[in-house]
Amino acid sequence: MPQPLMGMDLAELREAAGPLQPPYRARQLYEALYRGRARDLARISTLPADLRQELASRYAVGLPEIATIYESSDGTRRYLLRLSDGRTVETVLMPEGERDTLCISSQVGCPVNCRFCMTALLGLERNLTAGEIVGQVLLAAPEKELGRLNIVMMGQGEPLLNLPHVLKATRILLDPAGFGLSPRRITVSTAGIVPQIAELGRAPVRPKLAVSLNASTEEMRRELMPITRKYHLKDLMEACKAYPLRPWEKLTFEYVLLREVNDTDADARRVVKLLANLNAKVNLIALNPGPEIPFETPDPGRVAGFQAIVRRSLPCFIRKPRGLDIYAACGQLKRAVTQIG
Ligand code: SAH
Repeated sequence: MPQPLMGMDLAELREAAGPLQPPYRARQLYEALYRGRARDLARISTLPADLRQELASRYAVGLPEIATIYESSDGTRRYLLRLSDGRTVETVLMPEGERDTLCISSQVGCPVNCRFCMTALLGLERNLTAGEIVGQVLLAAPEKELGRLNIVMMGQGEPLLNLPHVLKATRILLDPAGFGLSPRRITVSTAGIVPQIAELGRAPVRPKLAVSLNASTEEMRRELMPITRKYHLKDLMEACKAYPLRPWEKLTFEYVLLREVNDTDADARRVVKLLANLNAKVNLIALNPGPEIPFETPDPGRVAGFQAIVRRSLPCFIRKPRGLDIYAACGQLKRAVTQIG
């Protein structure tokens, strides 16, 4: 089996090219792989023919294969990607007026057992490699107008439980010689893995952070997100307070609204209290329903009422559902198992 080059950093590519090559060859290969989106090693025209041949005999670019593309009536595209071991994972492209958002996965399935999320029903199959994370971007991001692209690691999986690969992929995506994205345009979302929040904060090159809050009390959070038994809400909030934001950065908190469960005015006021003294903004997500999910979506009026209370104290937005008709919206990623009716 040829080894995949996708996901290798410059030092690893230098080794792949071999000790006889001048160092600039590895850089040319790096640029061709990521910025140039090369699909075939034999055709990287910046490299000499003998090196191309030598590389192609031992390595492959190593992109996942596109198994299916589902297209929504709102323009959203859900990519079902097949990995080299036959497992599948999802990536969602959401084109909008002045920007495109690409939602990528960090694991196959997810080990965190949130009761409102369909991905939880899969359990964890395995971590994605850095190459499989970067590969999703190379396959699904539109070639042109990269300046418009936002990447969110909010697909399948809990990114902070795969932090080394997530950080390595981030370095490649942000490197001007790699994919060349701005650090303001990539966000990682966590269910609240407290020790890894601090670790992320120490990384010199890192994405922005979003935290899935989803409840206003410890008891409710425990019920909705059993991970809270291990990582208490109080400790999560402390980790958020200690998190080293860059000057241009805010912490994002996501809050899934479940009808008559966590959507009252009192919940909204408690959310405000929890986030007092943080440089934060809130994204509200009305539940995207699914089979086997034992909750309902609140009425739009209730969502607006919740937002009005939070907005008195901090920026608060309602996340528009995208790709509901193709099971591409938040909490709906569950691969081919989810057939479209
Ligand atoms: N594991 C990470 C990354 C997933 S992000 C995390 O938990 O943050 C997915 C976002 O969608 C999370 O904020 C999650 O709370 C939200 N979500 C999950 N299921 C949902 C559903 N059925 N409807 C709306 N949002 C949901």
